[in-house]
Amino acid sequence: MNEPLKTGATIGILGGGQLGRMLSVAAARLGFKTHIFEPGENPPAGDVAHTVTTAPYDDHAALTAFANAVDMITYEFENIPTAALDVLEKTKPIHPNRRALATSQDRIIEKEFLSSLGLKVAPFSKINSLSDLQTAVKTIGTPAILKTRRFGYDGKGQARIMAPNDVETGFADMADAPSVLEGFVNFSLEISIIAARGPSGEIACFDPGENVHRNGILHTTTIPARISNAQSTDAVLLAARILNELDYVGVLGVELFVTPQGLIVNEFAPRVHNSGHWTQNGCVVDQFEQHIRAIAGWPLGDGKRHNDVVMENLIGDDMDRVNELAREPNTALHLYGKADVKNGRKMGHINRIVTS
Ligand code: AMP
Repeated sequence: MNEPLKTGATIGILGGGQLGRMLSVAAARLGFKTHIFEPGENPPAGDVAHTVTTAPYDDHAALTAFANAVDMITYEFENIPTAALDVLEKTKPIHPNRRALATSQDRIIEKEFLSSLGLKVAPFSKINSLSDLQTAVKTIGTPAILKTRRFGYDGKGQARIMAPNDVETGFADMADAPSVLEGFVNFSLEISIIAARGPSGEIACFDPGENVHRNGILHTTTIPARISNAQSTDAVLLAARILNELDYVGVLGVELFVTPQGLIVNEFAPRVHNSGHWTQNGCVVDQFEQHIRAIAGWPLGDGKRHNDVVMENLIGDDMDRVNELAREPNTALHLYGKADVKNGRKMGHINRIVTS
């Protein structure tokens, strides 16, 4: 990209969930319009975007019309079919780039990539059959976690292998999907780092946050994380290595395990990340604006933390507490406008400012 995107330009976003919604708000604040491409009806991003295309990812005519109507394309989730990208890329640039997306879409490719950079990952083995799994369990040991290589999110597509006896049920749980067996990491904390890179190679990182999951779904992110300065620097450096190696443009989320042997990378997401929502009320420029700035070729913003924050996701029935939460001092409410409350569905989040 040579010229920064001009105010008034339209950014196409693949996916219309809450991340697309918050990206659209940030884009609008900088004077851009957004156009959402989303197969589902009434996407949360549709309430705040300029235009919405409702069509499946294999509708090539709709993809072409979308690409023609926008100035550049980004995405809010990583499971976009490759064939859709083939169609879009002919017409408009897509950021983050294809290699970043392809690498993150497959847990084996991702781990091989991270290892090639000298970054630590859990011991892993490719699983295509029950006998692969039996052999891998002997090498990696138990407990271990079996995960589908592709299309997993919020802990879905995973089975714990607590003992060698669990091999058959674990394998059945994967329903023949190509999988990966990962050794269980004995971590003291889970953290994530949200980092951004612009087209000229400048990099900015937000402070690492400490994450707690419940039922495989992110529950809270607390800033600052209980880590040393050295661990924090390590997180920044490893995120920068990933960004540079991929010649990445946009925001990236990297999930890490903190262990006595150092930081171990769990996975990365080539997009804004749930564990970066705290930046909306902890920084002058949040992750959504940072992503828009990066892909638009604008200078990256000041992502310094101005106060400590605890972000809490509002999942399913947590919506019953909204009135009560709205009364809390120092608490910012972010709701996604989803009509149906469902068990396990992310409905919103709150950012509690920590005052001493
Ligand atoms: P993932 O879908 O890979 O992000 O995994 C969801 C959650 O499961 C992680 O945030 C961890 O809490 C846990 N987990 C995943 N992989 C491992 C592992 N290899 N060792 C220990 N815990 C894990």
